[in-house]
Order: sequence, then C-alpha cells, then structure tokens
Amino acid sequence: MHVLFTLMFTLASLFIFVVAVLVIGVFAVTIFKGIAQWSSNNAQPVLTVPALVVTKRQHVSGSGHDSSTSTWYYVTFETVTDDLRQEFSVRSVDYSGLAEGDTGDLTYQGTRYKGFIRVRRPAAAPPPPPVLPVSNWTCGYCAASVPHNSPQCPACGSSQRAAALATTGTASAA
Ligand SMILES: [Zn+2]
Repeated sequence: MHVLFTLMFTLASLFIFVVAVLVIGVFAVTIFKGIAQWSSNNAQPVLTVPALVVTKRQHVSGSGHDSSTSTWYYVTFETVTDDLRQEFSVRSVDYSGLAEGDTGDLTYQGTRYKGFIRVRRPAAAPPPPPVLPVSNWTCGYCAASVPHNSPQCPACGSSQRAAALATTGTASAA
C-alpha cells in the first residue's frame, strides 16, 4: 500500500513538473519572439509614406464568459507609391480614429505603427482648358492673310480686320 502511494505521488509530481516546464517554455518563446521583433523594429528606419486605410479588424482573445478578455486592433494600410499592403497592430484610440478609405501620411518603423496623419487629397485635377486653334486674320483693306500675332497687315499697314470692317459696313449702310 505504501509503495503504491509513493508511486502515485511520484507520477503526480512528474506530471506537474512537465506541465510547468511546458507553460514556462511557451512563455519564454513568446517573450523571446517579442523581444526579437522589438529589437528588429528598432533597427529599421522610421518611414513616413502617403498611404490609404484599406481595412480594419479587431481580435478578441480569451473567453467571452468572464472579464479576462483582451481586444487587439489591427489596421491594414496600402502605400500609395508602390501599392504595398501591411497590417499594423494599433491602440484602440488609433483604431477608432481611422476609417476605411482614409488617406494620409503613415509613419511606421518595421512592423511598428507610429502614427497616421489624415490628409484630404484633392480629387483628380481638372483638365486644362482646351487650347483654341489660332488662325490668321484677313486684312480688311487688301484682303491679305495676316499672321495671328501681327497687329497690322504687313502688306498695307492696316489694322482693320475683315470681320470688323464688315460689321462697320453694315452699320453705316443701315
Ligand atoms: Zn492689308
């Protein structure tokens, strides 16, 4: 009886030990990964690029039955210059301040979100006014074709244009 008792006690102790090692191991790996990512981000340059908010999502971890849940917020940005998409983990205050379709300047360092300043980008620029074809004008005195940029007829020196002369002629005839 005493031997069986000792055996059970040993097995129970072993089980608890193995579980404890696993839990500590998972913790250690998680912390190590976090530190590795943190230090890798620190080595990256801080960049500010024009970007667009593509999509938002939140992830709730933990059971929903008690209050020990935590919510993680993610926002996916698309850079305007090279169409690169990247999802960043953001704080809830940043999450609520961003809307899908927002345009602005995104500042980030590696996988670390640093901020987003909303800039209302103008819509496509209006098309330039059509360039009217410039035509030569006809001299009202000698009917020569005069270059559009010349104020006087090079042949007779008149600045009277044919159309203007016609109008004046009609007015005087009436
Ligand atoms: Zn002329």
